Amino acid sequence: MMSSLSCFDLGEHMLSVDEARQALLTLVDGQLATESVALAQAHGRVLAKPVTAPFNVPGHTNSAMDGIALSWPEEGVAGSLRRVGSALAGRPFAGRVGSGECVSITTGAPLPPGTDTVIMVEQLQQHGDVVDILQADRVKRGQNVRQAGEDLRRGEVALESGRRLEAAALGLLASLGCASVEVRRQPRVAVFSTGDEVTAPGQPRADAAIYDANRFTLMGMLQEHGAEVLDLGIVPDDPQALEDALAQAAQLADLVVSSGGVSVGQADHTRAALERLGRLTLWRIAMRPGRPMACGVMGDSATPFLGLPGNPVACMVTCLVFVIPLVRKLQGRELRSPAWQAVADSDFRSREGRTDYSRGVLKRSDDGTLRVVNTGSQGSGILSSMVAAECLVEIPADKAAVAINDMVTVFPLFRFP
Ligand code: AMP
Ligand code: MG
Repeated sequence: MMSSLSCFDLGEHMLSVDEARQALLTLVDGQLATESVALAQAHGRVLAKPVTAPFNVPGHTNSAMDGIALSWPEEGVAGSLRRVGSALAGRPFAGRVGSGECVSITTGAPLPPGTDTVIMVEQLQQHGDVVDILQADRVKRGQNVRQAGEDLRRGEVALESGRRLEAAALGLLASLGCASVEVRRQPRVAVFSTGDEVTAPGQPRADAAIYDANRFTLMGMLQEHGAEVLDLGIVPDDPQALEDALAQAAQLADLVVSSGGVSVGQADHTRAALERLGRLTLWRIAMRPGRPMACGVMGDSATPFLGLPGNPVACMVTCLVFVIPLVRKLQGRELRSPAWQAVADSDFRSREGRTDYSRGVLKRSDDGTLRVVNTGSQGSGILSSMVAAECLVEIPADKAAVAINDMVTVFPLFRFP
């Protein structure tokens, strides 16, 4: 079976994206250990266990409005009622509410025993303790009442294991009284760039040099997906320097990712360094952008290594397609983010036998259909196409061409709002 094949069994033939991804996933044993963190520190972390509600939410049947609470009379409400007290949020009414009686009540206050209906204050006229109901025929039994447990029942799963905690989830946990949560340790991912021409921003740029974009796109994507990044800088095209960087990374990290130095003609010292430390295989993958890729394991810890292509777009795309699923596996999450379907609103590059990834921008047609347009120039060095993109458009290998109005699969990219 495909999923039991390791990276090293695949040989030298051209791999499909799925074959490569499945094989890479075998490099990661399982999920990381768990730890308990305070709720205020838990944003972006991944739940390691499901959280069940320890009590009903809301805990009491309560009022959704400011007004009066009453017990629904058999014959329906009419005329006036006598106010016998008040129920405030945090200060319930202790007495009894008889027929023809009511209590004033504020939003969130528990309904006094026996009452079941709330009439909002805008529908009342009050003279001392006598309350007249306006448009009494509009009042319905049970209106404006939130039932105990209508949000969550005691014992119900409130949040599933593997869920990344965003603002709403943190609020829900707080409302359940959780002061801390059990989450996965963050995956530690070491990142470095290779290449004699690659220069750190802030350094003077020699004539044929380029600034190191890949380290920053990789670190950004990894952080966006909840990893802790170890920045190992730029490693020159030198076998010993590479070996040292890799050996250090293997000890510190759960996963090591580099860019550059794996294309034909450059790969030899990457291969040499990795083969001294562990095992390496070089892949040709039937995808665009991003063909040359290296993968392997290093050191006693068998730390997985991925060597991504140097072209900045290819580097980002291969990170999203191959590295992020590994991060998600370590975190105990679903391996891929959810895909959407959209209608192609422009041409997309495609060739049979190859998976094509284009950068897309989403829009809605007048009838509400989700449509996707390419971002223009799709060269694998054109990073501005990635900046403009809202999604990756994935055209599978069995599709020879995509025409306008064809349905395509898109993966939304992480963006700050
Ligand atoms: P390579 O895979 O090392 O052959 O690099 C392919 C192309 O990507 C070359 O034009 C490199 O200059 C460029 N490149 C490699 N590393 C980086 C980097 N860290 N940032 C930006 N461009 C890079
Ligand atoms: Mg290079």
